Amino acid sequence: MRDGTRVIRAGLPAATQGAPFLPGPTFAGVYHFAGEPASSEYTYGRYHNPTWTAFEQALSELEGGLAILFASGMAAVTAVFGVALHPGDALVMPSDSYYTARMLAGGHLAERGIEVRLAPTRDNAQLQHLDGAALLWLESPSNPGLDVCDLAALAQEARERGVLVAVDNTTATALGQRPLELGADFSVASDTKALTGHGDLVLGHVAVRDSAWAERLRAWRSQQGAIPGPMEVWLAHRSLATLDLRLERQGKNALAMAQFLASRPEVQRVRYPGLPEDPAYPVASRQMACYGPVVSFVLEGRDTAERFLGACRLILQATSFGGVHTTAERRARWGGDAIPDGFIRLSAGCEDTQDLLDDLAQALDKTFTSA
Ligand code: PLP
Repeated sequence: MRDGTRVIRAGLPAATQGAPFLPGPTFAGVYHFAGEPASSEYTYGRYHNPTWTAFEQALSELEGGLAILFASGMAAVTAVFGVALHPGDALVMPSDSYYTARMLAGGHLAERGIEVRLAPTRDNAQLQHLDGAALLWLESPSNPGLDVCDLAALAQEARERGVLVAVDNTTATALGQRPLELGADFSVASDTKALTGHGDLVLGHVAVRDSAWAERLRAWRSQQGAIPGPMEVWLAHRSLATLDLRLERQGKNALAMAQFLASRPEVQRVRYPGLPEDPAYPVASRQMACYGPVVSFVLEGRDTAERFLGACRLILQATSFGGVHTTAERRARWGGDAIPDGFIRLSAGCEDTQDLLDDLAQALDKTFTSA
């Protein structure tokens, strides 16, 4: 089956007369359960849930591995750190990776005796820092800078040195890029973003090829105890059916907006990995099936960027990305990333392409005539 079919059928039970295609969420903290734990598929709500099982099966099919759900993308990141790193280990991480993951590493992990080595995503700079490391963390495309690294090449170098590899695949999703096929040990994602795409839930997952890692991650989730709610997981599974359609429209809108922004003299440093002139394009076009929804660009200074965002009518101001609604934010308002004050992260939604281009045009005109 191809992706467009797979996302619609993934994780569904066999067709049964009179039964729904996707059974509703199971709300259970407690299950009927007599005898030894191995005698029952479900025993207690912190360990497992049939709604999780169905969605994990769906994600496993898409990832080409075994998927384990977590209550958020950060819970998934934390689980990989938790099972793969021990005091005295070294972690190699992109200096431009997702801010909160970097904060977690530089704070809690460093305090627990883990050496954190930072290097940029661009030009595979992590390669220089692999010797003696336990885990190589990659994020491609990186958020928010949208640089790309060669995942297969880095994974191979890491494997030769006995270093585990994890890829944060949030921006691309499992349809846009398959880290496990490219050699990663862990494919990690925030499913709050494009995978579910409606801005109505927070969720994450890790996928692995090796069943021993899957067991360790499940044990981490059960013992650490912050588990996903069945309603969120069911909503996520329902949303998955439109992933291929959403990514197709988001990619078309992202490319059109990136090209339009690049044509405007007031706009600087437009980045989109699917833009043929982007420095990320040669590697991205080899390892990605589609380029995702996120575009970035720079306007001259904080005030100009804020005026532009205030002038948008259709494009909504919000953090996060990957949803059906086109959104934008002045990313530097959060701090923590090496980006200019006027840096804008734009997430292409599924609206009509021309309406989005019209909104960008009127907002830029208004910003620069009112200056
Ligand atoms: N990884 C990346 C690349 C992200 O952008 C985010 C959130 O913005 C996360 C991980 C964390 O995900 P969550 O917000 O679902 O915890």
